[in-house]
Amino acid sequence: MLTETARGLYCPDGDFFIDPWQAVDRALITHAHGDHARPGSAAYLCTPGTAALLRRRLGADTVIETVEYRTGRRIGDVSVSFHPAGHVLGSAQIRIEGPDGVWVVAGDYKRAADPTCAPFEPVRCDTFITESTFGLPIYRWDDTAVVMRDIMGWWNGNREAGKTSVIFCYTLGKAQRLLAELAALTDHTVFVHGMMLGMIEAYREAGVELPEVKPVIESKGRSRASFGGELVLAPLSARGTPWMRRLGTISDAFASGLMRVRGVRRQRAYDRGFVISDHADWPALLQTISETGAGRVLATHGHAEPLARHLAASGLESGIIRTAWEGEPTGD
Ligand SMILES: [Zn+2]
Ligand SMILES: [Zn+2]
Repeated sequence: MLTETARGLYCPDGDFFIDPWQAVDRALITHAHGDHARPGSAAYLCTPGTAALLRRRLGADTVIETVEYRTGRRIGDVSVSFHPAGHVLGSAQIRIEGPDGVWVVAGDYKRAADPTCAPFEPVRCDTFITESTFGLPIYRWDDTAVVMRDIMGWWNGNREAGKTSVIFCYTLGKAQRLLAELAALTDHTVFVHGMMLGMIEAYREAGVELPEVKPVIESKGRSRASFGGELVLAPLSARGTPWMRRLGTISDAFASGLMRVRGVRRQRAYDRGFVISDHADWPALLQTISETGAGRVLATHGHAEPLARHLAASGLESGIIRTAWEGEPTGD
């Protein structure tokens, strides 16, 4: 039903690509992260939530058709529907039913609750294409409530020491999730890097409730010391830039599943690592694969080979799918 091509996963029966990494005639998009939604395609099909983010990323004149979750659509000789993936706003698994049975392309997904997007729904299928960003047994996430308590404790400690707390995180997904989780714990206004405002606004326009934020850029009249005690969210690209200077004495942290690994924490040299991920951890990958009932599982992104080996050892037909993106995952 789906074949690997130089431009990405292709469905000949429907003449479309899924998350192609080059421009194509028709692209079905699981979600708006940069390694899944590339510019230049003639037409895009995705959920309304993803469309709201794509218009910001790819420009207002991009041709985007939307389809609601769980709504079937005929394309060529196959029937296609989008189902919640729980990864970021609008994220979807794409189900394709055709002559070769039912396939599901999960895209990126997680099973932990996230107030900013619809929860993952398992979809029964014959062939399941799963992400494997964190496809190793070492990757296990704590409850979000535990992580948020750690963040609040760290922030309070920094405030008492007169330091500014800076959390580096992805601009699309993680920032909004943290803001929504923080809003449940504090009334204190959170500052954000100006680069984060666009996606926060896009979430709001799509109907996601987020607390008020203040951009650091508009607060530059403040003296250096006056950010002491505040919490600032910033994109990874801001680390080490002159922008940081206006924040005064800081304690910095990275919010990512990558922070599970001590070696990575040490190498990146953040003061703190908060293990909070928008991807499935190892137990969630295995649970999800089992819930799909799929007899064949193909793994892609990150640790595809160890996951495929583990599945083969437990009696499933398994394989891996190459990706043009072998670098660091987006939205980890
Ligand atoms: Zn993603
Ligand atoms: Zn991804």
